[in-house]
Amino acid sequence: MLSLLLLAVLVILCRFTIIAMVVPKKSLGQNFLRDENIARNIAAEIDPKRDDILLEIGPGMGALTAHLAGTTDHYLGIEVDTRALELLRTRFQNAEFLRQDILDVRLDDLARRFGSKIRVAGNIPYYITSEILFWIIDQRAHVLDAVLMMQLEVARRLTAKPRTKEYGILSVVSQFYSIPSIAFRVSRNSFFPVPAVDSALVHLTLRQDVPAHNEQLFRRVVRDTFGKRRKTMFNGLRYAGYPEEALKQLTTDLTRRPEELSGEEFLKLTNELETLRNSQK
Ligand code: SAM
Repeated sequence: MLSLLLLAVLVILCRFTIIAMVVPKKSLGQNFLRDENIARNIAAEIDPKRDDILLEIGPGMGALTAHLAGTTDHYLGIEVDTRALELLRTRFQNAEFLRQDILDVRLDDLARRFGSKIRVAGNIPYYITSEILFWIIDQRAHVLDAVLMMQLEVARRLTAKPRTKEYGILSVVSQFYSIPSIAFRVSRNSFFPVPAVDSALVHLTLRQDVPAHNEQLFRRVVRDTFGKRRKTMFNGLRYAGYPEEALKQLTTDLTRRPEELSGEEFLKLTNELETLRNSQK
């Protein structure tokens, strides 16, 4: 009984020592997970297998790493904070950590190194949520899935259906290139320091069957038209510089607003614009 008590005191002391070692930096989006149950539930959602290639974004002090690193033979943590890295390398001696900005990581290099697609996971720094999503989508040929903790509001946008107020650029792009679903919500009180918003865990399964298309143009059309969200597609595209005469030749119904179009309809429009552009060359 006494030894159990001593062990509990030791564990509590260790946790406080660790927290004292990495003072959270707001500029790095450091809101550390402090709820063991949530960490366990995230790991259950990821459900890592021995031969998975698992890349964790921003392992921080290892709240999630503790449930992941030992479950696969190929764990890799990418972290920018040297203080956190020192701690991670001491705590998880068999895991690999790299000091790098996640947005600079080339997944084709990693996929080649391991000879397999990568599973991405993490309680991500919220100041670059959109950038991380686009980083994954742009490299989707090398990604199996991504399990990411993000702001609840962004999670709702990713999964929003057409004709809702949350439906926007992130909804079109994420649903066109992946199948996103909210696994569960997480209270802001599960983090230290407590952030201003609640969070949610989102599981994205990357689509491997997206037809070839001009991806830059697709994204530009989505951005330009949602930039004028209240206008019809016709007016949004006209403001973006497309000549009226050219727009009148398209078969896509441009009297609608962008929030009424699915990703597939944006693809059809992109292909029509591309064909038109090529025919005018
Ligand atoms: N995974 C830890 C947890 O759940 O407690 C930490 C999560 S904290 C929200 C985000 C982590 O991402 C921090 O450790 C931060 O240092 C790291 N980070 C911030 N910007 C980064 C970047 N550009 N590349 C890699 N890691 C980054």
